[in-house]
Amino acid sequence: MRKRVIAGNWKMNKTLTEATQFVDEVVKSIPADEKVEAIVCAPFPHLATLVEKTKGTNLKISAQNMHFEDNGAFTGEVSPVMLKDLGVSHVVIGHSERREYFAETDETVNKKTHAAFNHGLTPIVCVGETLEQREANETMSLVETQVKKALEGLTNDQVAQTIIAYEPVWAIGTGKTASNEDANEVCAHIRNVVKSLTDEATAEAVVIQYGGSVKPSNVDELLAQSDIDGALVGGASLEADSFLQLVEAGT
Ligand code: 13P
Repeated sequence: MRKRVIAGNWKMNKTLTEATQFVDEVVKSIPADEKVEAIVCAPFPHLATLVEKTKGTNLKISAQNMHFEDNGAFTGEVSPVMLKDLGVSHVVIGHSERREYFAETDETVNKKTHAAFNHGLTPIVCVGETLEQREANETMSLVETQVKKALEGLTNDQVAQTIIAYEPVWAIGTGKTASNEDANEVCAHIRNVVKSLTDEATAEAVVIQYGGSVKPSNVDELLAQSDIDGALVGGASLEADSFLQLVEAGT
């Protein structure tokens, strides 16, 4: 039985004061349920404080990006070594906003995924098509390529631990959600791609999230789908109440 993973991706939102208020509120009422994992993906400057505040709780802290090199002359970058040292558990890799605005490619996504495992971080690897690609019927082949490239060279064991987030770009921050069936169809396809790369047991183990305008009112039906194991949530993860409702839905 796969666990559910509900991750709130704050993107470039919240001051440190707002972030600590959120976490103080959430840890008080977060469900202690082994079936669901709750994660907040916070901006870099807040990570150390949030890791401290969530020690011994059921809330995990993730970064939203990192560089693939361990250290060196990469001004402005943050390395996996630094994240691990802080006690961060997860890292989002290849979010569509990074692919679009910061030149992230399938190749850098693959390097970062390897770097995450090399340093004991769990990668949340994002894939998904644009509206143009969906309309051109390219969703399945595009997502397949993104998944294959992201996971290239990983062991089956590492693939089994990877969290894959299917986020159709046209559904992010638009209020438009893929229909439950469409979202599930792509997530099932991703699981098949994983199976073709590895084996049945690995494909059954891998957690696949849906992301794109997920909110408390639609999360139940998405999580009820056979191949959707969780959600990567932007806007609706910014308020503690709403985030807690999403986590509750995973229990
Ligand atoms: P929204 O939930 O705001 O659509 O954002 C989704 C997302 O990009 C999460 O990574």
